[in-house]
Amino acid sequence: MVRFTVLASGSKGNSTVISGGRTRILVDAGLSCRELFRRMNLAGEDPATLDAIVITHEHQDHINGLAVTARKLGIPVYFTEATHRAWMRWLTPRRQMSYAQWLELCRKQAAERQAEAQSPAAENAPNASDLAETDPEELEADGQPPITESAAPANRGPETSSIPPPTLKDDPTWLPAVEYFQAGQPFAIGDIDLSPFTIPHDAADPVGFVFSAEGVRMGFATDLGYIPPNVKAQLRALDLLLLESNHDLEMLRDGPYPWPVKQRVLSRVGHLSNHATAEFLSTAYDGQATYVILAHLSENNNLPELARVAAEVALEGRASLLANRLLLAVQHEPLSAINF
Ligand SMILES: [Zn+2]
Ligand SMILES: [Zn+2]
Repeated sequence: MVRFTVLASGSKGNSTVISGGRTRILVDAGLSCRELFRRMNLAGEDPATLDAIVITHEHQDHINGLAVTARKLGIPVYFTEATHRAWMRWLTPRRQMSYAQWLELCRKQAAERQAEAQSPAAENAPNASDLAETDPEELEADGQPPITESAAPANRGPETSSIPPPTLKDDPTWLPAVEYFQAGQPFAIGDIDLSPFTIPHDAADPVGFVFSAEGVRMGFATDLGYIPPNVKAQLRALDLLLLESNHDLEMLRDGPYPWPVKQRVLSRVGHLSNHATAEFLSTAYDGQATYVILAHLSENNNLPELARVAAEVALEGRASLLANRLLLAVQHEPLSAINF
């Protein structure tokens, strides 16, 4: 069975679980680990069964809980190389070092950890779940200590063997495993095929995806200033389309944001307006998806009803009655799981 569950969508955090065959992946980790686990449980998804995390770009609302979640589950993280580097820079803003220097530092730290683990004193070293208890990221995100009793499943990969991972304080960029992909080059994680494509957005190397599993195709594009031809070409022959409908142009223009921020949102590397999304739905879109999910709605510059009505008008008369069921992903709670 294929299942698509949006856990959260909006400028305060984005995360979606996609299951296909025996594989389950988390797309973006924009909430604290604890909140991600809470929402997965609410939505009937077991966090311990996740196989990997895939990151679209390094903005905070997409990576907030990344390090803690990947460490707790001991699972690999898939990035483009530029996004991984940007993420690391974001976590270590005061350290002025080149990428080569950083790699050297990582090598040194790994060697030190190995030496420590092999020394007799290592028997008293804390294990991974003890370390997770004091993750400063969680303390900051939630304002109180995390619940840890069921949070750390058994380590799975050989890379996490007996050497405890460093704390976030030691090395905030440490991940159990990192895998690189490139826009334009399809790859697979277990039973799910991923087709990443470049989107226009003010991040290092942002991507959207078409995910496919068991013959079900799911298009995924948020955080883009406009819809260029390469994205239009990707978002075809889908069973599910998740597309940004970020702001209402008038609300943004008259709203509380300072002018430079308004300019950024409106720019070609900002976010899609309801109008831009509706224009795509009424023209380039082929009308084939069973579900159309509007996502990344701004809480300050949009209203769910405005986004919905714009898309409904655009979709009027498209395809059959069974197609284009319109749903809105929201910030504060998971959207009901969609099963195929
Ligand atoms: Zn975003
Ligand atoms: Zn973004």
